[in-house]
Amino acid sequence: MMILYRTHILGRTGLFTVRIDAQGTIADVEPFRGLVPSHALSAWKSHAQEPEHWDLEKGLLLPGMVDAHTHLDKALTLPFTTNTSGTLEEAISRFKEYQPKLTEEDVLTRAVMVAQQASRYGTTTLRTHLNSAYPDPNALKVVLNGMQEAQRILRRQMDLQLVLMCPTIEDDQWASAVLPAMAPYLAAIGGAPALARDPNRNLTWILDWAERLNLAVDLHIDETLDPLSQTLNTLAEQVPARGMQGLAIAGHCVSLGAMSLLEASAIADKVAQANIGVITLPQTNLYLQGREDETSPRRGLTRISLLNEAGVQVASASDNIQDAFHPFGNGDLLLVALITAYGSHFGESSADTLLKMVSEIPGKMIVNTNYGIHAGQPADLVALECPTALSGLQTLLAGRRVWKRGRLVNTTLLAETPLGTTYSQ
Ligand SMILES: [Zn+2]
Repeated sequence: MMILYRTHILGRTGLFTVRIDAQGTIADVEPFRGLVPSHALSAWKSHAQEPEHWDLEKGLLLPGMVDAHTHLDKALTLPFTTNTSGTLEEAISRFKEYQPKLTEEDVLTRAVMVAQQASRYGTTTLRTHLNSAYPDPNALKVVLNGMQEAQRILRRQMDLQLVLMCPTIEDDQWASAVLPAMAPYLAAIGGAPALARDPNRNLTWILDWAERLNLAVDLHIDETLDPLSQTLNTLAEQVPARGMQGLAIAGHCVSLGAMSLLEASAIADKVAQANIGVITLPQTNLYLQGREDETSPRRGLTRISLLNEAGVQVASASDNIQDAFHPFGNGDLLLVALITAYGSHFGESSADTLLKMVSEIPGKMIVNTNYGIHAGQPADLVALECPTALSGLQTLLAGRRVWKRGRLVNTTLLAETPLGTTYSQ
């Protein structure tokens, strides 16, 4: 049995001891009794990899971080897809031009590089959306094969979930040929209805197929500052009507931030009723949205506080990493949490919430509804060499240890230098 002594746990007060059984499941979580056995090794000074007993020395333990919305098929393609206008529209067309050049090996290499880096930062589950490459099923097959190989390579350190983005054209012939065959490999189907000629029709079509195949949906919703784009409202009406409560995720929801408070509140209430999870993607939306505004450019984030007040769970995720949509990003969800803070005016009183938005909350959305540091949960854990969520956001460079199903998969120790702090492996 592995035991972690003397650790803080995100969202709780006091120090704890966490026991993990041989199957990689959390056996129990108890208040720390004030004694660390002499054979326990320092989590921050020892270079040992697999001891049974660790002293966390008042570090902070989080549930494994969950990057619930990424695009690994596009990640790291920036050198080949320059977006000169910096708009979503140009980004879409640049990747569309590049997609025929993708090979399985290229997709696999880029996906594994980004996922392994995310794993070093503490991500234990990562979900990627995949472009449909509509109407070419062979181009889609290239991406799917590359991603399935990536899943196999990464399986000891990370669960990689796949979501297929359906096209903006409601083509049942394409859907019949592609979706039933791919369904067993998918965590959900998605799409971006706001980009379709008739967004509500496109959304309805995607929901019809999800219902038919008994799949969840994970959609790009209203990634626009146009307040008249209200597919979130349609989704919140259709989900309960179809009995899909708890099976729908809405990413972006940018236009919710551009509507009047009254309109946005009414929609937020419906989203709560429908048990739809919302994911904000601050890196990409701060970058893409609002650049047409000549003064005080808008931020492009959804209304996190309003949604929370209505009872909606809101997670934060990476979205694009070094591609035509977003030239920066490194897969570090601690950085995403910090950018979420800046983008939504969250301060020190929200520090715990910000770290929950990249761990426990997305875990409840896409891993299991009880995700967290409790007995019976898989021991997907990240320890940070800092005592609180706030100090983690302040330093970013805290040492980290990452466990997947109770197995240590990554260690990044902090080295003191005269100038401050730097990383060393
Ligand atoms: Zn996205």
